This record gives sequence, structure tokens and C-alpha cells, in this order.
Amino acid sequence: MFEIVIIGAGMAGSVLAERFASSGKKVLLIERRQHIAGNCYDEVDGNGILIHKYGPHLFHTDDAQIWEYLSRFTEWHLYFHKVKAVIDGKPVPLPFNFNTLHEVFPPSLADKLEATLLERFEYGKKIPILELKKSVDKDLQFLADFIYEKIFLHYSEKQWGLSPDKISGAVTARVPVLIGRDDRYFQDKFQAMPKFGYTKLVRNMLDHKNIKLLLNTDFHEVMNLRGEEIYLFDKKFDGRLIYTGQLDELFDKKFGELPYRSIDMKFETVDEEIFQSAPVVNYPNNYDFTRITEFKQIHPAKSPRTTILKEFPQEYVAGKNEPYYPIFTDEAKAAYEKYSAELSRFKNITAVGRLAEYRYYDIDDVIKRAFEVFDSLNH
Ligand code: UDP
Repeated sequence: MFEIVIIGAGMAGSVLAERFASSGKKVLLIERRQHIAGNCYDEVDGNGILIHKYGPHLFHTDDAQIWEYLSRFTEWHLYFHKVKAVIDGKPVPLPFNFNTLHEVFPPSLADKLEATLLERFEYGKKIPILELKKSVDKDLQFLADFIYEKIFLHYSEKQWGLSPDKISGAVTARVPVLIGRDDRYFQDKFQAMPKFGYTKLVRNMLDHKNIKLLLNTDFHEVMNLRGEEIYLFDKKFDGRLIYTGQLDELFDKKFGELPYRSIDMKFETVDEEIFQSAPVVNYPNNYDFTRITEFKQIHPAKSPRTTILKEFPQEYVAGKNEPYYPIFTDEAKAAYEKYSAELSRFKNITAVGRLAEYRYYDIDDVIKRAFEVFDSLNH
């Protein structure tokens, strides 16, 4: 009866469900949680503020196709994300840019560093700090060391629970110096938030007669693998299975657990109109939390109070907390490869998404990947 079975109703699973359903296929979408939209899930809280239950999710893309696709399911609230980082007690703009230079250094030094950066790098470019660190120029080395110490090092140790040499280049590339005065966190062409939230967007996406959604359902309850075959409701299933969960779970962790990093998300109500000077303020150096998000500054709301979220990174323990980030150590990558080899024995299973592919996908990346998977399978 079903031609496509999808495990997980996050962004990857939901986009694929919609794509296949719209092409006339019958889709069964199975979700363990009580809600759709995965970690993009948002809801209006007791203060009347739209909060992101699994941490801040900011949409940005350069891809017009993705923008147009999502625009079929939502209106937008135009929004440029802003982040500050507290350095020596003072919140300053991130990514580190010329405005930040002038906030942290005396004018003569800031001017000198600005001129040197402009000589060496193209205006508007983002230079990862590790690249800046390689500069021969002594002033730029000083700047790279400063940013490394004050913004990257302690934040990343907290966030990943690893020493900096074990943290992947894919992560450090996310901490650049921006050559210019653009205080926006992202420079993409399209930046906005779904006006009524991601959950509503995904609900619209899944509102299709060809999609049957099962919430509160662990995939083990309805399907299992025997030999190289898939059994659905105890009958052999010859359609396509799209799996967006943790790959180790699909194979009963037979090669051990894949490590992920978790976060303890602590929401607080503050009895003030506005709590902080930017929607997100990072605390690289003090406190056990990494950052504070103030959702009212992302989704405007009229309330005398404000809701903030403090993120406390922690070890992921299966069944106790959520697996947010894959950890890219060499051991973890090797373990993933074993599962990936196991997966390749199954002709009709495709792994998609941050958990299943063990990749640090942004929202637009995962949608792009879902489109590619759909194109490769839909013939
Ligand atoms: N990072 C950092 N200092 C900061 C912000 C980010 O060192 O003030 C590093 C850190 O390793 C983090 C990575 O950059 O894990 C990506 O951070 P970002 O906030 O962009 O990503 P998110 O956690 O929202 O996916």
C-alpha cells in the first residue's frame, strides 16, 4: 500500500514526504516524538512568545530554489540574525568585524589592524581564524590569537567537550573574521523566519492526502530488518525506506554508539520587556552555558515579559537527552563508516539528514540534500 516509508518528520523527512506525495506516491511518515518538525519545532509559550524548543534555528540561504519552495508553505518575517559575544565583560558584534575591532581595541590599533586586513583580504570576505593565524604579518597573528583565545577556544571546549586539536575544521570555519562592517551573523541572500513558525510551515508541507503520519511511534514498533530485507507491519516491504534517525539505532548499535553532543536547554521568564542587547549573546569565557537566546527579538511579540534560553552543553546519553550535534573525531568518523558500509548492503534504504548522515547540516543544506535524494530516486 505504501510506496515510500520515511522515518523521522524533521526537515529532511518532511521535505521528502511532501516531494514524493506530490509526485503521486503513497507515503508513510513515522515519528517517535509527539510532534513534527524535528529540532525546528517551535511553539508559543506562556508569555505569548514563539520559542524554539530545541534551540535557535535561523533560516538563511543563497539558493533561490529553496527559498521559493519554502515560500509555498509559509509567509515570512524578514529578519537578519545578529549575535554578540561577551569579551572581557562587554558584548561585541559577531562575526568579528571592523566594528568589533573598534569596540575591543584602542582607536590607533583598531585602525592599523583594519588597514592591514584590507590590504591582505578582499572586502566582504569571511576569513576563518585558522587561516588568519597562518598570516606572516605579526599584527594579523596577534589578532588571530586574540580571537582564538577570546571567542573560539573556551566556547568550543564547552560546546564540544573536546580539546581544540580534536575539533574539526568544519567547525572552526564557522568562526571567521569578516572584512567589513556587516554586523549580520549571515550574509546569505535570503534571510527570514517563517512568520508563524517552523511547525506551521512543516504542518502545511505535510498536509497532503498521500501522506499518512504516525506520531508517537518508534520505528521498531512497525518495522524491522531481517537479513537484507525490510519488514513493515510484519510483511516484506519492497518500496523505498528513507531513514533520518541515528544510523546506529537502525542497526541496533551493533558497532557501538555513535557519539553526539547534547545541550540542556533551560528556558527562563524574565520580568522585563527586553533582556539583552542582541537576539543571541554568546558567553565564550565565563559560565557553564554557551549562549543566551531571547526569542522576542527573533519573533516580535507584545509582552511585558521576555523568554530567554540558556544552553548548557552536555554529553549525549541515549534515552536521556537529545542528540544535537555529531562529534567529528577520527574515532567517530570510523565508527560511522562501519554503519555506512552496513547500510550499503540494503538496496532500498537511503539515509538522509544530520543524524543519519552524521553531518553538520544547516536547514537549507538539508533541504538541498532532500531535493537531491528525491531527484535520484524518483523515476
Ligand atoms: N563558536 C565559537 N565561539 C562563538 C561562536 C561559535 O567558538 O562565539 C564555534 C563553536 O565551536 C561552535 C561553532 O563555532 O560550535 C558553531 O557555532 P554556531 O553558533 O555558528 O552554530 P550552532 O551551534 O548554532 O549550530
